[in-house]
Amino acid sequence: MRIGCPKEIKNHEYRVGLTPESARELIADGNEVWIESGAGLGIGATDAEYVDAGAKIVDGPDPIFAECEMVVKVKEPQAVERAKLREGQILYTYLHLAPDPEQTNDLVKSGVTAIAYETVTGPRGSLPLLKPMSQVAGRMSIQAGANALQKEHGGRGVLLGGVPGVLPGKVVVIGGGVVGFNAAQMAVGLGGDVEILDRDPEVLEKVGTFFEARASTRFSNKTNLEDAVRQADLVIGAVLIPGAAAPKLITRELLSEMKPGAVLVDVAIDQGGCFETSRATTHADPTYTVDGIVHYCVANMPGAVARTSTYALNNVTLPHALRMARNGWKEAMRRDPHLAEGLNVHAGKVTYKAVADELGHEY
Ligand code: NAD
Repeated sequence: MRIGCPKEIKNHEYRVGLTPESARELIADGNEVWIESGAGLGIGATDAEYVDAGAKIVDGPDPIFAECEMVVKVKEPQAVERAKLREGQILYTYLHLAPDPEQTNDLVKSGVTAIAYETVTGPRGSLPLLKPMSQVAGRMSIQAGANALQKEHGGRGVLLGGVPGVLPGKVVVIGGGVVGFNAAQMAVGLGGDVEILDRDPEVLEKVGTFFEARASTRFSNKTNLEDAVRQADLVIGAVLIPGAAAPKLITRELLSEMKPGAVLVDVAIDQGGCFETSRATTHADPTYTVDGIVHYCVANMPGAVARTSTYALNNVTLPHALRMARNGWKEAMRRDPHLAEGLNVHAGKVTYKAVADELGHEY
């Protein structure tokens, strides 16, 4: 199969659909790989590295959209890219169609076969192609929070790990799923005094067993949550209620009872945020202060560590790409119902029920 990877054009997107290493694997499996010149520069991968891997470098995105059977990307296609998609072509990328009627209509009109990373499933209802981004965001949340705790960033001047003779910072992680677990790992690694709150007894058991005495756990009810937040130097918001907006767990009123200069990192901001005072920010201007409490609410945290994020994403997307190239997408989906869950649009129809229902498309 001829597989193409254009340069991402969404504002501030530095990731790339295929690393040179992934291109090499696809080529070793008998495929041809075309890469748009400069596509890898955002992660420090030069055209020469792709050429060494056996790929062909093409100028601009047009040859890829015109001649490749599968297009591998990171972000949803932008309007100019959607205009280039062709009937029968496979588009393999993050799509997030439910809130995006315009994109959905364009994909339907194009006749493309669109496979969305975010709806490919794994065992026990997991979303393995989303997981690496939650791992990245979770780990980054502590880095971002530690930074914001420094005086020059408005924080209370606390070093998370403390020093001998001085207590460490108190880190409260709300939600012990993928983001929360990874945040807790980093906070424990830095020597912080870490507490994890969740509502799911199985999650509490899992994190409790993993961290043993290195972190404490508490059931997330109003009383426990407010008590933990009042003591915190750094709070990580890492909750998710699938299919719903994040619940507002910290009210503006509660901010006044927190330590001045404490930091809130709202990782759940992409689902509306789990603090009442959260509003989405960007990497260019990531923090703001409300009632003396520093807020960090960047909605696309993994974008700042594009290289790590790209490699983590390729680790989970490449195996499916290889199987689709080898067996054709239909046979690959017949053999793997989890991959079949990724099919969102095919031959002029929305093929993912939740998207069809949300946007009023025929299913
Ligand atoms: P997850 O499903 O693995 O974990 C969510 C956890 O929240 C679950 O364990 C659940 O029991 C818990 N929870 C739900 N309600 C709670 C409550 N009231 N109190 C305490 N815990 C509660 O989800 P995840 O992959 O860890 O993602 C968490 C959030 O981070 C999501 O909103 C996701 O979209 C977001 N995210 C943001 C970025 C970013 O760049 N900002 C990147 C990746 C993920």
